[in-house]
Amino acid sequence: MIIDWNDIDTVLLDMDGTILDRHFDDHFWLEHVPQHWSQRNHTTLDYAKEHLYSLFRSQENTLNWTDLDYWSDRLKLDIPVLKQEIEHLIAVHPYVVEFLLYLKHAGKAVWLVTNAHSKTLDLKMKTTRIGPYFDGIISAHQVGLPKEDKRFWGKLQDFISYDPERTLLGEDSEVNLTTAESFSIRYLIYISRYSSRVEPRQSDHFPTIDYFNRLIPEKGSSCITIPQ
Ligand SMILES: [Mg+2]
Repeated sequence: MIIDWNDIDTVLLDMDGTILDRHFDDHFWLEHVPQHWSQRNHTTLDYAKEHLYSLFRSQENTLNWTDLDYWSDRLKLDIPVLKQEIEHLIAVHPYVVEFLLYLKHAGKAVWLVTNAHSKTLDLKMKTTRIGPYFDGIISAHQVGLPKEDKRFWGKLQDFISYDPERTLLGEDSEVNLTTAESFSIRYLIYISRYSSRVEPRQSDHFPTIDYFNRLIPEKGSSCITIPQ
């Protein structure tokens, strides 16, 4: 896929896994929460994991998935406080700041569009200080639908004016890229190195990059090529 930045006005970027290392989230839900839950409920860690992983799966692709109040209530744990305990794991992926500076310099509108809950967003913006690089931040909880829902991208236009034909979306979720594709967002980029702990894997369907420096053209050029 060849991208000419002259054809793009708006850039939409996901947060967890796309600009921030998803190791934090994976570790939090798969290890840290089960540990605390097993202590509180006097179970083995193995039992806690089995029980919680199936609870988590039951809420996949819904707004509950990222709703910290929902999980605090359901698990009887203070989820925001537990997140703070491991906030040292929150990290911006390599080359993200360079890419955001390039976009700013090129005059693009740049929006952070995330399923994350406001309490997660607050913690991550405070820790990473990356918020000011964006024109704005939209949470799916404001929109009222998760990005996994096809209707999300149309409803997003109530919050951001964007032309799908002149928009680029970066995501580490192929499901979300697929719903965006159904709304005809033209430039859809899959981020394969969503966690510092995984081996990147090329998408079968979407142009794939590991790091955002792949989207920064050489000086004097506006074009880049991405393997499909
Ligand atoms: Mg993500």
